[in-house]
Amino acid sequence: MKISRLLIFLVLPIAAASVIIAQNAESTRRTLDIFYVDVEGGAATLIVTPAGESILVDSGWPGFDGRDAKRIEQAMKVAGITAIDHLITTHYHTDHYGGVPELAKRVRVNRFYDHGPMTSLDEDKDFATKYGAYRAAAKNQTITLNPGSSIRLKQAPQRPPVFLQVLASRGETVTSKRLSVEPNGVCAEATQQAEDKSDNARSVAFLLRHGAFNFLDTGDLTWNIEHKLVCPQDMIGEVVLYQVAHHGANISNNPAMLRSIKPMVAIMNNGPRKGGHPDTVKALRGSPKLMDLWQVHRNVTSSAEQNAPDDFIANLDEQNDAAHMIRVSVDAAKRTFTVTNDRNGKSKSYEIK
Ligand SMILES: [Zn+2]
Repeated sequence: MKISRLLIFLVLPIAAASVIIAQNAESTRRTLDIFYVDVEGGAATLIVTPAGESILVDSGWPGFDGRDAKRIEQAMKVAGITAIDHLITTHYHTDHYGGVPELAKRVRVNRFYDHGPMTSLDEDKDFATKYGAYRAAAKNQTITLNPGSSIRLKQAPQRPPVFLQVLASRGETVTSKRLSVEPNGVCAEATQQAEDKSDNARSVAFLLRHGAFNFLDTGDLTWNIEHKLVCPQDMIGEVVLYQVAHHGANISNNPAMLRSIKPMVAIMNNGPRKGGHPDTVKALRGSPKLMDLWQVHRNVTSSAEQNAPDDFIANLDEQNDAAHMIRVSVDAAKRTFTVTNDRNGKSKSYEIK
C-alpha cells in the first residue's frame, strides 16, 4: 500500500512535467520571422512561419565556392530549421536562381515554385545551362505560380493564420482581388516606361499575410507591371513591410505603386554597387507612411543622405564584408514587429496600426 502510494506521488509530477514540456515545445515559436540573407546584391529572403514552416524566396548567386548557399544554410541554422519547405524562384536571373543547385545539394528542399517553364531567355546566353541545372536540382518537379495562386501553409494553434497569395506572375496580374470599384487616385499622375521584355517583368510577386501584418515581395518586377497592380484599380492594398523591388533599381519602384501601398517599413536587398538607386530612396521617402528604410548594404556610390542612417544598414563596407543579416520578427497577436540589424544588434519595434 505504502509503495503504490509512493509510486502515484512519483508518477504524477513526472506526467504533469511532461505536459508542460510539450506545451512549451509547441509555443516556443510564436513569431513569424523573416531573414534577409546578404547575397551581395542578389536575393534570398527566408521566411519561417509560427508553425515552423519555411519559405525561401530566391537563392542568391552561384559560384564563389558556394558562398550564397552557405549563407542561406547559416540563416537556416539561426532560424532553427533544417529544410526548406517551399522555395519560390521569382524569375530566372542568375542573382535569384543561380544558387539553387548548390543549395539543393546542401539542404533538403521540399517544393520548388516559379513562374513557369521557359525555353530561352534573350538576355542570358547561358540560360540553357543555368535553367537545366535548376530543373535538375528540382528533379523536374516544379509548381507554376499564377496570379491568384496561393501556397497552402500550416497554421499554428492560437496564432493568426498565415496566407501567401500570388499577385503577379509572367507579366500577368490578379484580376479578382480588386479592393474597390473606384479608380485608384494615384493613377492620375502615374507614368509608363518602355515595355520591359526581360524576365524581371515576369517576376512572381506575392503578398504574405499574418493577422494585421503583411509583407509584399515583388522580386525584380518593373515599372509597368507595378503600375498594372495598382492602376486603374488597386489590387494590393496597404502594406506593412515592403521588400524594395529589384534591389532598389529605379526602373522598378514605380512611385504610383509606392503611394498606393504606403509601406510602413521598407527593406532593400541591395549590394554595395548594385541597386539602392537615389531615385528609389527618394521615392520611398516620399511615400506617406514610411517610417524607416533598412538596407542590406550601404550603396558606396551614393551620398550618406542617399542611404539610410548607418544603424539601419547591415553591411557598411564593400571590403571585408561580414555578410550581416537584417531580421524581422512579427508578433501578430501583439500587432508588433521588430527589425534587427545583425551587425550591431540594434533593433527597432513597430506597432501595426
Ligand atoms: Zn535581381
